Amino acid sequence: MSEYFKVVDIFGEYVFNDTVMKERLPKKVYQKLQETIKEGTDLDLATADIIAHEMKEWAIEQGATHYTHWFQPLTGVTAEKHDSFITAPNEQGKVLMSFSGKELIKGEPDASSFPSGGLRATCEARGYTAWDCTSYAFVRHDAAGATLCIPTAFCSYKGEALDQKTPLLRSMQAIDTQALRLLRLFGNTTSRKVTPSVGSEQEYFLVDKEKYLKRKDLIYTGRTLFGSMPAKGQEMDDHYFGSIRPRIAAFMKDVNEELWKLGVPAKTQHNEVAPAQHELAPIYETCNLALDHNHLVMEVLKKKANEHGLQCLLHEKPFDGVNGSGKHDNWSITTDDGINLLEPGKTPHENIQFLLVLACILKAVDDHADLLRWSAADVGNDHRLGANEAPPAIISVFLGEQLDDVITQLISTGSATHSLKGGVLQTGVASLPDLAKDATDRNRTSPFAFTGNKFEFRMVGSQDSISAPNVVLNTIVAEAFEEACDELEKAEDINEKAHDLIKKYLTEHQRIIFNGDGYSDAWVEEAERRGLPNIRSMVDAIPALTTDKAIAMFEKFGVFTKAELESREEIQYEIYAKEINIEARAMINITNKTLIPAVIKDITALAQSINAVKAACDCDVSVQTELLQESSALLSDAKVALAKLEEVTDKGLTMGDGAARAAYYRDEVTTAMAELRAPIDKLEIIVDKKVWPMPSYGDLIFEV
Ligand code: ADP
Ligand code: MG
Repeated sequence: MSEYFKVVDIFGEYVFNDTVMKERLPKKVYQKLQETIKEGTDLDLATADIIAHEMKEWAIEQGATHYTHWFQPLTGVTAEKHDSFITAPNEQGKVLMSFSGKELIKGEPDASSFPSGGLRATCEARGYTAWDCTSYAFVRHDAAGATLCIPTAFCSYKGEALDQKTPLLRSMQAIDTQALRLLRLFGNTTSRKVTPSVGSEQEYFLVDKEKYLKRKDLIYTGRTLFGSMPAKGQEMDDHYFGSIRPRIAAFMKDVNEELWKLGVPAKTQHNEVAPAQHELAPIYETCNLALDHNHLVMEVLKKKANEHGLQCLLHEKPFDGVNGSGKHDNWSITTDDGINLLEPGKTPHENIQFLLVLACILKAVDDHADLLRWSAADVGNDHRLGANEAPPAIISVFLGEQLDDVITQLISTGSATHSLKGGVLQTGVASLPDLAKDATDRNRTSPFAFTGNKFEFRMVGSQDSISAPNVVLNTIVAEAFEEACDELEKAEDINEKAHDLIKKYLTEHQRIIFNGDGYSDAWVEEAERRGLPNIRSMVDAIPALTTDKAIAMFEKFGVFTKAELESREEIQYEIYAKEINIEARAMINITNKTLIPAVIKDITALAQSINAVKAACDCDVSVQTELLQESSALLSDAKVALAKLEEVTDKGLTMGDGAARAAYYRDEVTTAMAELRAPIDKLEIIVDKKVWPMPSYGDLIFEV
């Protein structure tokens, strides 16, 4: 059988998808479920019972013994509690396999140990998981056997969101309502639903598992806390799109197969900029599916790496000195009948609806740049944003030549009369075909770039959930659409009013457009002149969540209540302080337990050899002596820095809660960490490699 047919056959094999449902569910039940999926109508228990039964039968055929409500608490990873399908043994000591509608629809994990940010006191343990029937159930195979996984939302007893999925689903409703209003105003009578489409490109590193296990810093924190770059880094650009080595290729093959079976449309794979860095991108899907599938991508990458004797590092900055990893969030808005609202067409200057959508997005991004910045903040991403490798921490929008030209015409004369054409790309080689050229080049330095018929939000961190970026995008754009619709619905001449609004929004928000080099210092200064926020750290980004402006917007669209926002704010400060605390403790531990003893061993051996040489021949030992002095001085620097780090870390525990504590960790603890790292990294270079207790950067990233 050819590969082609194989892929087609295995795709979705582990998924209780539409084809399976159509096949297995009674027609009426299938139709009812479709109504719930498409229109959100309530599902009655009798129907749910039938679905649950069929789902269970199907899962058992796949080898499943257990089911789980698979959810996304605010820890950043997914969570699950497994229940087997067995019933209590009957009088003959036999069990049945059962699964009820109630069990399918609602779960009640003991929620007291998940972060709730004060929404739920520890004693109020109740938290509910509720089936998200818009994302297919699937069977996962692993060492535990096979498990039926039911994608769920996770809420408190009072219905407050305790997860990543609930607000995303709410934000999708908000943009659906407002985008449909807009479409109707422009004469569309056929589309019934508008959903955001998302494609997330996942970057990751692969290192050898055995070497990984010798790096306690990687094990505890996901990144190296020590290590100096080898002679070669990424400067030759020879890894990017380079040919994929057999070991990695075999891993990628397995990843793809597993993802395809899970219904994840894995599409693109290539080597990334840094050595040992790679990327996987699926074909875009409806926003909440993309969210679930990105979690599966991260899970499968880790699992398959393990099976190949590798470790997958999803941290944003596993190694200092080479690029870190991100997750580009490609976003567009599409109707159920296939219209992409971000499609400019060949002559964007004539496309009033597109121009209004674009103007609304520019307005939304400018008005809520702080929220977008927040949505990409996680502890690891602080190492990237603004550090000249990822987009800067300043939010701006890249539109490219063609749209920029249309906008300039609109702002200066009130109307646009022409659109720049792409033209033909001539290579100068007669045998090569002439290629149709896009009307716009790309700009890799922009955090928010228009790329033909979608926006690409490039700030998101590699290990972060894509929920927050899309919650923010959906909601801020819904808000801008709503404002425009309010105006348009009052107007006598819709076209004229749309023109006025486009001009108004573009004029008021043109400061957010930037087509130049986002990595340059000049841009930082220019952005400051324009009054654009430059939010440099996660701790500084968190307050955006609870500004009056943010609360008003999120409450208006039913995406977050004030209490939910406050709880998320609290959780994030806590996560920040906790993660830095773990890093600091890991550094202290590694330094005390392995690095200092290794250096002492090296110094002692050197001292002994100096004495031996002297005794043997009374030769010149000045080189050895100099080395001994250098190592001893660095060891002493390291000891001083270690004591300081221990002191500030201990003090951190007494710092109370919230913003002040997080800021303390950012300012005091990370500074003390850097001060300890400096002498240790110098020592690594001069100490005998045989005594250095962990693999070097070179071992890790060049010898995979
Ligand atoms: P790159 O930016 O690396 O050149 P691609 O053009 O291949 O990448 O697209 C990257 C991602 O964007 C993929 O996941 C792709 O499916 C997704 N994508 C393409 N079109 C859209 C769209 N209209 N809406 C959302 N995502 C899209
Ligand atoms: Mg891209």
